[in-house]
Amino acid sequence: VVDVATAHVDGPFTYTTGGSAPALGARVRVPFGGRLVGGWVVSDPAPAQPDASLKAIVDVEDESPRFDAEAVHLAAWLRGRYACTFREALASVAPRGAAMSARSRFAFPTAPDASGATADALFGAFGARPFTPIAAVRALKRAGLRMSAQRAQAELARAVRLGTLQRVQEREKAKRARTTSSEMCLVLADAALAKGAGQRRLAAALGEHDGKLPSRQACKLAAVGSDVIRRATKAGVIRQEPLAQAAATAGTIAGRRPSMTATAEQRRAIETLDAAMKKGPVVALLHGVTGSGKTFVYSRLIDRLRRRGGRAIVLVPEIALTPQTSARFIAIFGERVGVLHSGLSDGERARVWNQAAAGDLDVVVGARSAVFAPLPKLALIVVDEEHEPSYKQDVAPRYDAAAVARERMARSGGAVILGSATPSLESYQEAISGGIAYVRMSQRATSAPMPPVQIVDMTAEKSMRGRQAVGPALVERMDAALKRGQKVILFVNRRGYAGLLLCRACGFAPRCRRCAISLVLHSADGSLRCHVCGDAFKVPNACPKCRSLDLLPYGFGTQRVEETIGELFPAAKIIRMDADTTTGRGAHGRLLHSFGAEGDVLIGTQMIAKGLDYPSVTVVGVVSADVDLNRPDFRAAERTFSLLTQVAGRAGRAAPGSNVVVQTYSPDHYAVRLAAAHDYETFARKELALRRELRYPPFGRLAYIGLAGVDASAVGKVANMVAEELRANARGVETLGPAPDPLPKARGEYRMRIALKSESEADLLDACRSAQRMRRDPDVRMHVVVDPR
Ligand code: ADP
Ligand code: ZN
Ligand code: ZN
Repeated sequence: VVDVATAHVDGPFTYTTGGSAPALGARVRVPFGGRLVGGWVVSDPAPAQPDASLKAIVDVEDESPRFDAEAVHLAAWLRGRYACTFREALASVAPRGAAMSARSRFAFPTAPDASGATADALFGAFGARPFTPIAAVRALKRAGLRMSAQRAQAELARAVRLGTLQRVQEREKAKRARTTSSEMCLVLADAALAKGAGQRRLAAALGEHDGKLPSRQACKLAAVGSDVIRRATKAGVIRQEPLAQAAATAGTIAGRRPSMTATAEQRRAIETLDAAMKKGPVVALLHGVTGSGKTFVYSRLIDRLRRRGGRAIVLVPEIALTPQTSARFIAIFGERVGVLHSGLSDGERARVWNQAAAGDLDVVVGARSAVFAPLPKLALIVVDEEHEPSYKQDVAPRYDAAAVARERMARSGGAVILGSATPSLESYQEAISGGIAYVRMSQRATSAPMPPVQIVDMTAEKSMRGRQAVGPALVERMDAALKRGQKVILFVNRRGYAGLLLCRACGFAPRCRRCAISLVLHSADGSLRCHVCGDAFKVPNACPKCRSLDLLPYGFGTQRVEETIGELFPAAKIIRMDADTTTGRGAHGRLLHSFGAEGDVLIGTQMIAKGLDYPSVTVVGVVSADVDLNRPDFRAAERTFSLLTQVAGRAGRAAPGSNVVVQTYSPDHYAVRLAAAHDYETFARKELALRRELRYPPFGRLAYIGLAGVDASAVGKVANMVAEELRANARGVETLGPAPDPLPKARGEYRMRIALKSESEADLLDACRSAQRMRRDPDVRMHVVVDPR
């Protein structure tokens, strides 16, 4: 599989071994289309008829395998299932920089004396400078000493044993650390400003990766150099930012009982699941209310599995958001736990990967991509909070980690446990129809009851319109809790100060000119910011349209709620947690720790909705439950239901007497009502009936074809052409649209979407593949999302 990033080049290709015989998983250089490119070997060499048209592998860059046959199978499966290229699939299965044994370098500590021709030749070439095995092979070739990479590796290893040569891994590590910490991230600001082919390629590469890439990777993908980066920055096409240091996993565990005995319900769950796992491959849905102790059940199952010699992967939606979960596994399994998350550098990631492959870890806890961790004797993959959309990767390969887990375990005979308090309707439907096993836990482990949920109709509370973030009902509950010394969590669905800056005279609200979206008011630096492209502007004194001075912040963000609560409860210690307060390394853990230790009120976005477990939280307020409900998405109700359930689940985990207050403009919506009643089953029945009627998942399969480009009419033309062809030719597929994407313009690019519905996976994938093969305007990018979440 060649390392060439275009959809038209999708191997595998056949080469002759050319003397050296690299095994499956090796990295090689091969001639391709008139030049030399890198590539990965995806099968073992096999004898074949002599064929003059076959080219030979030129060089073996790295003998140590990056993946095994199982990984190749998984990559092939990803490619078929998610309409991506083999190369994209392989890059996910075997991440870059993750050779299965550390890439070593060698150096002579002193001049070799009488150690033979090899050592002399190498010392002649390198002196005291360190070199890689592949450089050694080349130097030896130049000195007239031809040998295979394998042979050279063996010679080097022998020289190390003899003391002639030393391995220099430390320096490598130091170098890696330096480059990663100083590396910049390129952010796409406005694709429409790109001039020249290089800048356009760069903009397209960034657009394809959600607008953001580490600079080295962006250069490589777009095949541009630092001059293009410099000019693109100056022209305003891109911005440069220090590579975000994601939050480290914090060891902040709220006081925990060291040893717990399983409740009756938990015991039943453990025995049922364990028995099923011993029998053979199994997929099970563990449907347990918030606080029922699902994590406890996973850990007991893994403990038993370990004693039988098995290993496990635990997937969590986003590791930085769930430090408590990973900390709990570390507390139980200690050193045998590896944690993989997005904040790791390539080097750190490769280290955990290699430890896993070497059998030094029994449990790997991680986000989405940890589903590929190369654990030998892998017997269980837990997908915690399986309903979370973050399990779907949003760049190619656009895989779903839960589906990958099932494919992986189906092949090796292991188990998959999908855990959730609010299962996705796909999983639930499969469970109640007997397709997968179903285990229900309906009680909290602590025997604390589920907290009562009060719905506050915001349309009725006049005082709240645009002025007051929290109404009297919530203020009263908060007051009582704080007086008793208990804690409060407030959930707000937007960061920043206010959603809009609205002119009261003419109704104008500033929008981002690149992204067709309202600018959000931020208070700290008095700026207006775009939450899509990150652009910031100074707040105008007067309305840019009518010159009126009557500009009013409208709607609520976390900053404004923090301000209001500070005025209402001046003595309370308030912690705000959102993307703006958690940029530093470890900030997430620090904030949570300080809330647990001395905080009174935690105000935050999505990132506080799940996983937090603080016994002294007795009031949870949802400042506005509506944003998700208004999204043009067939999952809007499901998302709202699960978010409200998750947020409410933070309350009253230890004792009765807790309260949840939900403020909403849609008090009668069934998702709001049924979440307040803690009634998943009724919600699911109602929602499934709607989905069945419209043939939405789980009753039909769905794919989106996205088109994007800086020229609106070109995008529209391609979208119409693709939709028409599909309507005319795709069998067994219903083609809907094209319609503007829910985000119709982003970072200077216009976006359209075609939706495909089908009862048959094969028909759906055929249609996607045929769309990808259609000839189209090269300035319009296409991406395909199979099974969108
Ligand atoms: P879930 O993941 O289902 O929301 P958790 O695993 O976070 O639930 O457990 C909720 C709380 O109940 C935690 O504080 C946990 O320590 C506690 N807990 C779980 N099982 C037991 C048990 N058997 N005995 C006592 N406390 C338990
Ligand atoms: Zn105005
Ligand atoms: Zn913008």
